[in-house]
Amino acid sequence: MIKVTVWNEYWHELKDEKVKEVYPKGIHNAIKEFLSTNEDIEVTTATLHDEEGNLRADAGITDELLENTDVMLWWGHVKHGEVPDEIALKVKDAVLSGMGIIFLHSAHHSKLFKLLMGTTCNLGWRESNDKERIWILDHNHPITAGLNDRFFELEAEETYSEPFGIPEPDKLLMIGWYNGGEVFRSGAIWHRENGKVFYFQPGHETFPTFYNENVQKIITNAVRWANPACKIKLECPWIARLEEK
Ligand code: ZN
Repeated sequence: MIKVTVWNEYWHELKDEKVKEVYPKGIHNAIKEFLSTNEDIEVTTATLHDEEGNLRADAGITDELLENTDVMLWWGHVKHGEVPDEIALKVKDAVLSGMGIIFLHSAHHSKLFKLLMGTTCNLGWRESNDKERIWILDHNHPITAGLNDRFFELEAEETYSEPFGIPEPDKLLMIGWYNGGEVFRSGAIWHRENGKVFYFQPGHETFPTFYNENVQKIITNAVRWANPACKIKLECPWIARLEEK
């Protein structure tokens, strides 16, 4: 079983009627729902705010949760700053030890993503209901498996635009084109020490993106891809010679 934790700041869904309508149980539960249909995936959720909108001091992330997570998904937008630095650093350490991590949409500006990338992660954006066409650059990668067409489309997404302030990905898997004219690196992977990182751009809170079957397929594939063979924390030990002089 792959133990997955879906983390969500869980704010728009509680405060904004439009978002509540699209994701009545929260984005985390919408993701949990489709991932849970897979027999090899066991899903738990963690949220920055509770059902009443109260901030959780530990951002819903405990040591025990991290120990029991193989792959974490991260959705955040306006509350990145409320995640305590020590929690972000703790999750970063878990990733370096092997925990897989999938950053969704506006998680590009989370403390955690910026820590792992080491750059601004800035980009251009516009909420204008533009259509997005996502081009698949490699059809033979585990994350794009089963997406056999050249591209797929989302009727409406938030426009994200290059330049995107990220380090060169280990591999770029997808490019998004919007009918406003912009392009964006929509699906990219990195390795950070023992951990695998995937950034996936679709998923604005006012659109039903997480109900799209291609989006669901990509996220499900990414969970399996990011699942670590083992989790090992690298130390910096003094080492004795293995061979006689
Ligand atoms: Zn957005």
